[in-house]
Amino acid sequence: MKKVLNISLLEQILVFLGLFTVMSYCFQINKVNSSPFESIKDHVPIKRPVNLFNLEESVGTIFNLTQKVGAKPVSTVQETNLRKDENLSSALKRINFKKYHVNNIIKSISILKNGNKILSSLPVGMIIKYSIPSNLTGGALKLNYTKTKDIFVWQDVKKNYKSQIFLRPTRIEETLIKGVIRNNLYVSALKSGIPENTILEMISLLGFSIDFQREIRSGDSFEVLFTKKIDILSDLVTQTKPIKYVSMNLSGNKINFFNYEDKFGSAQYYDENGKSSKRTIMKTPINGARLSSRYGNRKHPILGYTKMHRGLDFAAPLGTPIFAAGDGIIEKAGWNGSYGKYIRIRHTGTYKTAYAHLSGFFKNIKVGKRVLQGKIIGYVGSTGRSTGPHLHYEVIKNDIQVNPMRIKLPAGKNISKADINDYKSHIGKIIKQKIALEKSNRDNKLAINNHNIKKILTVN
Ligand SMILES: [Zn+2]
Repeated sequence: MKKVLNISLLEQILVFLGLFTVMSYCFQINKVNSSPFESIKDHVPIKRPVNLFNLEESVGTIFNLTQKVGAKPVSTVQETNLRKDENLSSALKRINFKKYHVNNIIKSISILKNGNKILSSLPVGMIIKYSIPSNLTGGALKLNYTKTKDIFVWQDVKKNYKSQIFLRPTRIEETLIKGVIRNNLYVSALKSGIPENTILEMISLLGFSIDFQREIRSGDSFEVLFTKKIDILSDLVTQTKPIKYVSMNLSGNKINFFNYEDKFGSAQYYDENGKSSKRTIMKTPINGARLSSRYGNRKHPILGYTKMHRGLDFAAPLGTPIFAAGDGIIEKAGWNGSYGKYIRIRHTGTYKTAYAHLSGFFKNIKVGKRVLQGKIIGYVGSTGRSTGPHLHYEVIKNDIQVNPMRIKLPAGKNISKADINDYKSHIGKIIKQKIALEKSNRDNKLAINNHNIKKILTVN
């Protein structure tokens, strides 16, 4: 009995050793094949848009890869998009990859890290660049499956399919954009080239101090300083960091805010004197809405007779998120007669805000829950006595509705005396950076005018 056990133990060890040898051999082969990453990176241009354009040729890219990894040479590279209700396998069949190749391509991707997960979540519309295998040439694919990553698939000289994920090269760019408002801030900011994320940030950050409906005039201007990450191959912005500095010039009245991280790591915005950008209650607890009815006497759209309108109406598409106008506690969340689905938040001892005609509440919104300013609490709807999707917003002071546009709102927490010197030197640095960017923007403009350079942007 003992002998038998020993033999089987020995066998197990031998099998294990054998497996280990095979595995480490495989691993080494993989390593050899995974080396092209660095080489590909060497080919990424970082100097001029002209070079960028040359290297953006997709054929060049798959071609470069096959050269680098010593793959079977490819012929023509074609392009298609992943269609709705299609997976990679059916897409490859559609573009005439034979079953044998499809199976091996899928297998080579599935053994990548998270390979199966990637295969099951490829985005509709994804660009597939491909070369169909023939007797003389190898099959190859390039899948731009996320904003930041590509998968390359190729056949090695033994015709085995290999796959690898590549990070798309990016560069960080500090950006200063200035613009003039023609009709509204959102559209003008978008036209001036500010990414949408950053615009929404601007709006929610300035929303405490500016009444976008009444205070903005055509000809007012804005500037914003932020950091963006750019995909070198496509020249598209893939990520933006929080705004560093934003400024609005409203008929000569300047409002500036700077991002500053306190010693607890919480980043907030303050003006040049260290006064917080936050007010205890926002005047406009919604983005992208139009003020459709003001506070005061009006002819009621449903009842027909003149009635005091004790709030503001913001017309917005169904489902538009509604934000808590200030930090506070949910006092009511539910049906409230003609108000329809309704939320009321208690803020300070004096103020409450109410939101009516909602289509629904944000998850976990219920009585007693603490909410933070600017966080979503519900969505625009048309419940209760309402003619169409809008938010009816009320500010309640000492249990009486008041005109939200008229209230003087106390500010959020300002920079403390102890931190003010650090804060001033921090904003000094931001201003220096802004001045440097202004200069380089001017130089660029000059260069563009002088040489009449045409910027050609293509998506790889
Ligand atoms: Zn109303």
